[in-house]
Amino acid sequence: MNKNDIIRLHIVDMTADGSGVGKCDDGTVVFVPDTAVGDVCDVRILKVKKNLCYGKIEQIVESSSDRVEPQCEVSTRCGGCVYRHLKYEAELRIKQKKVYDAVTRIGKVDGAKVKTIIGADDVRIDRYRNKAQIPVGLNKNGEVEMGFYSKHSHRIAPCSDCLLSPDIFTRISATFKEFVTKYPYLIYNEEKHSGKIRHLYLRIGECTNEVMVCVVVNGKSFEHQEELFNSIIEKYSEVKSIVINVNKSKTNVILGYENIVVFGKEAITDVLCDLTFELSPLAFYQVNRVQAQRLYEKAREYAHLHGDEVLMDLYCGTGTIGLSMAKECKELIGVEIIDKAIENANKNAKNNGIENARFICSDAEEAALKLKREGITPDVIVVDPPRKGLTEKLIDTIAQMNPTRVVYVSCDPATLGRDLKQFEENDYSVKEITPVDLFPRTAHVESVCLLEKE
Ligand code: SAH
Repeated sequence: MNKNDIIRLHIVDMTADGSGVGKCDDGTVVFVPDTAVGDVCDVRILKVKKNLCYGKIEQIVESSSDRVEPQCEVSTRCGGCVYRHLKYEAELRIKQKKVYDAVTRIGKVDGAKVKTIIGADDVRIDRYRNKAQIPVGLNKNGEVEMGFYSKHSHRIAPCSDCLLSPDIFTRISATFKEFVTKYPYLIYNEEKHSGKIRHLYLRIGECTNEVMVCVVVNGKSFEHQEELFNSIIEKYSEVKSIVINVNKSKTNVILGYENIVVFGKEAITDVLCDLTFELSPLAFYQVNRVQAQRLYEKAREYAHLHGDEVLMDLYCGTGTIGLSMAKECKELIGVEIIDKAIENANKNAKNNGIENARFICSDAEEAALKLKREGITPDVIVVDPPRKGLTEKLIDTIAQMNPTRVVYVSCDPATLGRDLKQFEENDYSVKEITPVDLFPRTAHVESVCLLEKE
């Protein structure tokens, strides 16, 4: 097979990151994005490796029955919604299988323990995100572009209406675009590290309908800023906070550390699991509130607290999971590595009148070891690590602390599978796993798993 060959391919499977998979007669596997199982298509080969190739669709010859027309203007370029061309049922089937395959193949868990995925309601498959970070740039014709970075690049795929974002974000973006189109010299140039305006960053507290507008600036202010802020305030009564986030670094990292409040409050508020949370520009918060709530409720059910337990919440972020269970335990200990998140967690506890919680800023593995040495014996431990999962050492320490139950919240089925295997070697058995779709249309899937001491 050579680059630029065109071959006819039957799509028979999907990869974990949402590419279709076809197999040539000679056994070569070809990965083709934006396809669906059941498609027959002509594919142009883009890249040839030893036993596999990457291709793109030239023409669909026969359409899979899972297909729908993607409504989005940039779905094949932006790379966010890898399943936008599929019916949602098909997407859920793929995600269910992704979790099932990972935990049964890698984790050797009995497949019957994987429950049916908790999908989003029909009305929440789109427009569920409460946060958007929109890059602003000029294209080679000098025209203003706002949208999303294309797959694996720093080129902007222009998009005026992201279907994952609420309508109010689309409207505010349009007002913002009018402003930068009037003063294009204000736009930041990544290569030259010149200009001012880098990103528009929006957040909404869905329950309160409060909106935060944050402009990420290479500096502390920009010319004509009052004109922009006044027009936003005039047009959108939902906007309760306008902030300049200062980011003068030559970096891909979107947000800087300093925030200057130019209008209203320094944080907006939202309600999650009957608790209020303050969303400052840098505070971590789940982007899909409704599905996060379902995930946390499942975690709470698995934690099965009665009121007299010590609960440990490792990788606690701003404390959301532990705090949602704090009323049902004697003591809550949260651990998180980012000090700002710990500050938020303490504040969240205080604002909700929770007095039995303490939060430790530390690496989870180190904190667990230290707490174990201090003789702390949690009854239930919740973990919610980033994609890379837990360390072997941490799993050993958790097992030595001897909790009755471990509730593992995971954003990566593969590392979940790997870690479950180690838990089982440490006399913890997997009782149940529930996948939850927190990110409809994208390749991501969360799971929550209950482990019990044998
Ligand atoms: N449980 C929270 C946050 C989960 S995201 C929620 O549901 O909102 C994972 C968190 O782990 C992040 O806040 C990240 O800062 C934190 N983290 C990453 N590495 C860590 C480590 N080694 N030790 C402790 N926390 C860590």
